[in-house]
Amino acid sequence: MIPYKHEPFTDFSIKENKDAYLEGLATVQGYLGQAYPLIIGGERVSTEEQITSYNPAKKTEVIGSVSKASKDLAEKAMQVADETFKMWSQVEPEIRADVLFKAASIIRRRKHEFSALLTLEAGKPWNEADADTAEAIDFLEYYARQMLRLKDGQKVESRVGEYNRYDYIPLGVGIIISPWNFPFAIMAGTTVAAVVTGNTVLLKPASTTPVVAYKFIEVLEEAGLPAGVVNFVPGSGAEVGDYLVDHPRTRFVSFTGSRDVGLRINQRASVLNEGQIWIKRIIAEMGGKDTIVVDKEADLELAAQSIVKSAFGFSGQKCSACSRAIIVEDVYEEVVARVTELTKALTIGDPTDNANFMATVIDEAAFKKITSYIEIGKTEGKLMAGGTADDSVGYFVNPTVFADVDPSARIMKEEIFGPVVAIAKAKDFDQAIEIANDTEYGLTGAVITKNRLNQEKARKQFHVGNLYFNRGCTGAIVGYQPFGGFNMSGTDSKAGGPDYLQLHMQAKTTSETF
Ligand code: GLU
Repeated sequence: MIPYKHEPFTDFSIKENKDAYLEGLATVQGYLGQAYPLIIGGERVSTEEQITSYNPAKKTEVIGSVSKASKDLAEKAMQVADETFKMWSQVEPEIRADVLFKAASIIRRRKHEFSALLTLEAGKPWNEADADTAEAIDFLEYYARQMLRLKDGQKVESRVGEYNRYDYIPLGVGIIISPWNFPFAIMAGTTVAAVVTGNTVLLKPASTTPVVAYKFIEVLEEAGLPAGVVNFVPGSGAEVGDYLVDHPRTRFVSFTGSRDVGLRINQRASVLNEGQIWIKRIIAEMGGKDTIVVDKEADLELAAQSIVKSAFGFSGQKCSACSRAIIVEDVYEEVVARVTELTKALTIGDPTDNANFMATVIDEAAFKKITSYIEIGKTEGKLMAGGTADDSVGYFVNPTVFADVDPSARIMKEEIFGPVVAIAKAKDFDQAIEIANDTEYGLTGAVITKNRLNQEKARKQFHVGNLYFNRGCTGAIVGYQPFGGFNMSGTDSKAGGPDYLQLHMQAKTTSETF
């Protein structure tokens, strides 16, 4: 077995790579506007009601439309998944893992087509799209290997005359509710973690990015995944989402999305419904209000670069995005000035043009929410850059920097999920960490410092699931930086980590006396 290594990012300054991406783009442009059915037990089911996926950078361009599951169809999919579980849960882990390995190979061959689809469907600039595709491949490669590591369970002790074992068995039917911001990586990762561990699933992808999910199911089929293991049921959260979360045969829900929806799922899943014989398990990855702390003894250029890249990469639409920077007063003015300068120099525009660092936000609702926060910001801080937006062609919001923001301001507390960063001054490092921790979230954080004692202080006191030193706070790599947060950021289920798969299984102890 080749040891796990993350999928390298593509260098688009090399002509071959650039051409490969453009070829992928042409492939995707060739299938724009198609209609995609639901997939239930391998069967294609088309419905009258459709969810239409648009290009956020060109509002009128239809990426595709997918059939929309009704409650009846969701019920049918649940029955199929429940039935298929009897078979799939008995399939050898090695065979389940092979489906993932093969799927990774297929995607690798079509890498730039998938990235181009992400560019068009989610508005991801080339590098961001490339990272999303690479992460999808990583999840497949990593979880397949993890399953092989866990297939014989864990070692427990045995006494003389006794043979004890500790094995993992699958749970049952899982509901996968995936987000639009990593419409490939997180959708694929959450799906295959459930599948490789022997569960069957109903996948409800985000309504803004369903086409890439459909294309992924096709890959899984090509890789030999039996019908009924993954069922594709796009639909409305209020109708199908709630129905499936409430369903007595639902064994677990793996959700990535907003805090409010996560809490709603958690609450609904805790209610015991007629015929239900288990406590549902929730794996939730929710929001963030992530902070970069800049110490006075620090590489200030690195600090400014890290803030700008983490705040504005993919328009700040990552739960790991830097939405707050807390800077110690000695270096405050200098870092703010450099952040402002770098932000003003960013290129914004159509993501199919690789010259653009940043493109749009995902849709009209996001555009409205973010621009309303920018208005709030104008009353709470000093506008240093951006502050403007234009939705005439696509949902463009300019990268926005507010300085001199009070730590208790709304833009310091609430998740905006867009290209807006709020900067506050701290009198010293201790106060900076205190402000950074003053949030209900706890996902990522970064500390820019040359002071090793302060770094160690942050390691102990900065309460986030992913803490980075002297770099930005986005871009966790599968298998290298397991990803997940504390408090309102979710259940600290560390995606891409050594104990993620166990969340989808239950341990069984067997003991035999000789
Ligand atoms: N894993 C991604 C990162 O480290 C963020 C995932 C998310 O936004 O949900 O940047």
